[in-house]
Amino acid sequence: MLKVVKFGGSSLASAGQFSKVGKIVRSDESRRYVVPSAPGKRNSKDTKVTDMLYQCYAMAEAEQNFNAALKKIQERYESIINGLNLTLSLNKEFEVIAENFKKKAGADYAASRGEYLNGIIMANYLGFEFIDAAEVILFNANGEFEAEKTNERLAKRLKGCKNAVIPGFYGAKEDGTVKTFSRGGSDITGSIVAKAVRADIYENWTDVSGFLIADPRIIENPEVIKVITYRELRELSYMGATVLHEDAVFPVRKAGIPINIRNTNAPEDEGTLIVESTCRQPYYTITGIAGKKGFVAVNIDKDMMNSEVGFGRKVLAAFEEHGISFEHLPSGIDTMTVFVHQEEFEGKEQQVLSAIHRLAQPDSIDLEGDIALIAVVGRGMRSTRGTAGRIFSALAHANVNVKMIDQGSSELNIIIGVKNCDFEMAIRAIYDIFVVTQI
Ligand code: ASP
Repeated sequence: MLKVVKFGGSSLASAGQFSKVGKIVRSDESRRYVVPSAPGKRNSKDTKVTDMLYQCYAMAEAEQNFNAALKKIQERYESIINGLNLTLSLNKEFEVIAENFKKKAGADYAASRGEYLNGIIMANYLGFEFIDAAEVILFNANGEFEAEKTNERLAKRLKGCKNAVIPGFYGAKEDGTVKTFSRGGSDITGSIVAKAVRADIYENWTDVSGFLIADPRIIENPEVIKVITYRELRELSYMGATVLHEDAVFPVRKAGIPINIRNTNAPEDEGTLIVESTCRQPYYTITGIAGKKGFVAVNIDKDMMNSEVGFGRKVLAAFEEHGISFEHLPSGIDTMTVFVHQEEFEGKEQQVLSAIHRLAQPDSIDLEGDIALIAVVGRGMRSTRGTAGRIFSALAHANVNVKMIDQGSSELNIIIGVKNCDFEMAIRAIYDIFVVTQI
């Protein structure tokens, strides 16, 4: 058994958190490769070290004195080192960082130091080898991640290396320039390492016990999803359920390696297992519910639309002309509705309407804003009759008016449009009917 374990910022925010991580790693010999994030928030008012680094570097770039800001960052690390009773000094490292800030080494370099320094502490604490991600995570000259080359380099470097710490979030171009992934990118590094060593499992340790069936800000203490497929996860993440960086899925998914989301503060919890496919039916018919507010329905009417070849294409061309992507496209015989993001659409609405008139000559167009979309996702829906019926009767009982229904042919999800103000009520009603009443 071989595991790659990634720990998020909140799992490494203080010496206390580090020692929980130490226990987790030492309790299982197969946890051989560790990918740390930078120290995160210790409480809700705290600042992540990554953000402190970005701010400090912005001062350097503006030719301001950044010494005090950098000192504060060093103190964060020193409190971890002292709390763990390590005999490790980062003075030299901070001198180099200050020099490089003065030379304007770049915001990516600055941000990457968060993971780099945490990796040094972690390696020292665990007695593992430290491998600088700049040597093994490779980007091309345009700043695009080089998957193949990285895989080869990492596999070679880790062969024969029993235990190692590889900091998350960054790598380097061939000329040595440090490049980071987008925010939250340590998840991606973990996945890349898991693929390179052909791990049996990629454990992603965070501060929640896995993906929840629904948003805890709407549902009190929602249940944890035990097993979820990559496709279900994608549907839910797209609709706002975020625990894992979206791009973290690709390396391991292709290699058939499951991801296990675990909680550093509750290591006995099994967490959520993310798999390619499973014959295990979910306990409830649905796997999860997620949603977003802030959509506009652009309703387009034209008599005999159904027999007009190319009508849909012309309508969509109007959106394309203005760089607006659409979310959903339910249609009837003489009507077609295009759902778009309100934020993206608002500033251009009149231009888009006139483009639709010019290109498709509809009879009328009607806009309705402040719509929320809710995705009810579950592989279990495929084999269960009446799922849609249950959703709609639950919504009717809750007095929620349904504006739109869209079920993909995969039967993996049902999308429902409601008014923004009904959003929370709708999610509660759906959760109740599928989860609460089934417990
Ligand atoms: N430290 C980086 C961030 O705050 C990357 C990560 O934590 O995954 O975005």
